[in-house]
Amino acid sequence: MSHTLGLYRLQQVDSRIDQANTRLEAIRAVLENDSAILAARVILESAEKNLHEAEKALRASEAASESQRIKLEQVGASLYGGKIQNPKELQDLQNDLASLKRHLATLEDTQLEAMLEIEAAREARQAAELEMNKVEARVISQNASLKGERESLLNSLENLNAERSATYNTISPALLEKYESLRIKRRGLAVTTISDNACDACGSGLTPAQAQAVRMAVQLVECPSCGRILFSN
Ligand SMILES: [Zn+2]
Repeated sequence: MSHTLGLYRLQQVDSRIDQANTRLEAIRAVLENDSAILAARVILESAEKNLHEAEKALRASEAASESQRIKLEQVGASLYGGKIQNPKELQDLQNDLASLKRHLATLEDTQLEAMLEIEAAREARQAAELEMNKVEARVISQNASLKGERESLLNSLENLNAERSATYNTISPALLEKYESLRIKRRGLAVTTISDNACDACGSGLTPAQAQAVRMAVQLVECPSCGRILFSN
């Protein structure tokens, strides 16, 4: 096997390994960070809090109305009980009764409003709950397919790594060093093919002599522009 063929094969395997690792990293991020679920949960929690507040307001309003009704009954009992005869006192009680009735009407309005608010809060909570369930179902099915994909990526990585060490062992340490340092400098791509006498990675043209040298593959030819090792099929 010529030097460049070995390096080219190594590059092919490494590119596939890089691709698999990039995808695995993306899958890991999705599986660990279900932002859609978190967002839906925040909305649901706030809807639940609103509902509790509305229920609390209704209970307070009911209690206020109830104690107002008791006061009314007490004033009514004094007024119509027959024990009090003094006209001034009776007139005062009459006034109290009228004022208590007016206030009760206000309290009952507040109570009605509280009931309407509860109704709205319940609907909002129900909608948030439905949305949450939908998002969860979607994420679960998405995660299931992602887990399947991760499984198959890990399997192919195992094969690729075996293929990599087999190829790696056929290449001299000096060339490997050159290859690795080019990989770091050139975003993972150290070896590239040529087409129409030009570098496939950067598009830079080669002289006919350079292109011929690449095809002969007797010596290592680097792209005059990007420095990558050139290979011809
Ligand atoms: Zn180039």
